[in-house]
Amino acid sequence: MRVLIVEDETNLGQALEQGLSAEGFETTWVTDGQRGFDEGATGTYDAIVLDILLPKMNGFRVCGELRDRGIATPILMLTAKDGELDEAEALDTGADDFLRKPFNYVVLVARLNALLRRGTLNRTGNAKGFMVDSAGHRVIRDGVSVELTARETSLAECLLANAGEVVTKTELLKAVWGESFDGDPNIVEVYVGYLRKKLDVPFNKHSIQTVRGVGYRLELDAE
Ligand code: CA
Repeated sequence: MRVLIVEDETNLGQALEQGLSAEGFETTWVTDGQRGFDEGATGTYDAIVLDILLPKMNGFRVCGELRDRGIATPILMLTAKDGELDEAEALDTGADDFLRKPFNYVVLVARLNALLRRGTLNRTGNAKGFMVDSAGHRVIRDGVSVELTARETSLAECLLANAGEVVTKTELLKAVWGESFDGDPNIVEVYVGYLRKKLDVPFNKHSIQTVRGVGYRLELDAE
C-alpha cells in the first residue's frame, strides 16, 4: 500500500513516515503543496495524508485540484485543533476523512486502513457542493455541515448515489432498512421528511423531489 504524505513540519513528516513505514506502508513524503499535487496527480497512491497549511499551495487546493482532475485516491486531511470549519471545508473540497492534530498513531493507522478498505468504490462523491460524510454521519452542503442520524445518513447516501434519478420507495426501503424489514413502508416518507427538514432547502439548489406514486429524486442543481 503506497501512502503519500504531504506535510511541511519536519518533525511531524518524519514521524509520519517512520510510523507508517513501521506499519508496513510504502511511504513518500513531500513538504509542499505543489509537490503534493504533482505526486498525487500521478494517481499511483492508495491514500494521501494531507496537511492544510503548506507552502506554495494549501491542502484544500491540492485536494480540490486533484478531485477536479478526476483523481479519486482517498485523502485524509490533517486539521488544526479548533478547526471545525476546516473539517467541513476539507470534506467539501473532496477529502474522505480528517484527523485533528495532535493525533495518536493508532487512530491514524485505523483511519487509514478504513479508507483503504473503503477504497474508491464507496466514495460518496462531492457532487456540486453536496456530499455525504458517511463516517461522520452528516451531510455537507455548500460548506455547511448538518448532523444526521445513521438512518438519515444511509438515506442521503442512497439518494446521492442516484442523484438526478428516481429511486423508488422499495429501493430505499431495501437499501436503508434492509431486505428483511417488515414494518410499515411509509417509514420511508417519514425519513425523507426528516432529511428534507434538515437540509431545509425544499426549493433551493439541492432538493429531494417527490415523484408521485414512484419515489424520490435528489436534484443537485435544481433552481
Ligand atoms: Ca503545515
